[in-house]
Amino acid sequence: MTTLRWGTATDLGRVRTNNEDRLLARGGLFAVADGMGGHAGGEVAAEVALAVLDRTVGPALSEPAHLVDAVKAANRAVWERAQADGRLRGMGTTVTALAPLPRRPGHGSEAVVANVGDSRSYRLRDGTLSLLTTDHSLAEAMVQQGELTARQAASHPSRHILTRVLGVEPDVEVDHWVVDVRDGDRYLLCSDGLINEAGEDEITSLLVAERDPRAAAEALVHLARAHGGSDNITVVVLDATDEARPRGNPEAEATDDRAGRGPTGASAAGVSAADRKSVV
Ligand code: MN
Repeated sequence: MTTLRWGTATDLGRVRTNNEDRLLARGGLFAVADGMGGHAGGEVAAEVALAVLDRTVGPALSEPAHLVDAVKAANRAVWERAQADGRLRGMGTTVTALAPLPRRPGHGSEAVVANVGDSRSYRLRDGTLSLLTTDHSLAEAMVQQGELTARQAASHPSRHILTRVLGVEPDVEVDHWVVDVRDGDRYLLCSDGLINEAGEDEITSLLVAERDPRAAAEALVHLARAHGGSDNITVVVLDATDEARPRGNPEAEATDDRAGRGPTGASAAGVSAADRKSVV
């Protein structure tokens, strides 16, 4: 059985006056949402999206399409809320989400990753950081058309122009990937407030050096702040281990809502005391 341990951190940054990022972390579902839109619209969009995602997924996923459907339901809910309140018109949010899948016979542990917008999910495996998601930004579209290199895109102004978000249309296309989950994998979900400040090399070094997931999440936030903190910064760090019995006392650790642990896969429905949820 794969055990998940996680830590999270979110921060206003050094320039913004509101934190429009939200996060969700519990045994069966992990997500980061980065809201946008005036008059508190960004915060409302991110909050509504994660609440609907949480409710729709329930205790554990049944199959990959279940997460895609939950993101679509979140999109519809944000859009309806925007239609109902003129002050919130035009609000939207990104979402990147990861959820463990039930164990299939003959397969190792798996998870599904879903994405809309420019928040990101990464995997650190054997010291190498890999991007699991594709940004829905103009810069990424230009990379795919051969007009920019990935390196140029990382600092190009068009990276801030999103081509797809939740809440601005009644229906949305959701990208998703099924990934294998191995002992020792570390997953990172983050908003662009981290990526725009810190290079992937720095992020990798820090994730390799800091073993504790919560300390790693906090250190990434500090890193982004040290580089300017021009946007809200939100980070979920998630470790997968094959330890049959996690070290330490899960209950004690779980009393802090920024850290938690729980089993994955089909057994996730049975998580209770050690399963922590935090929509910060
Ligand atoms: Mn942002």
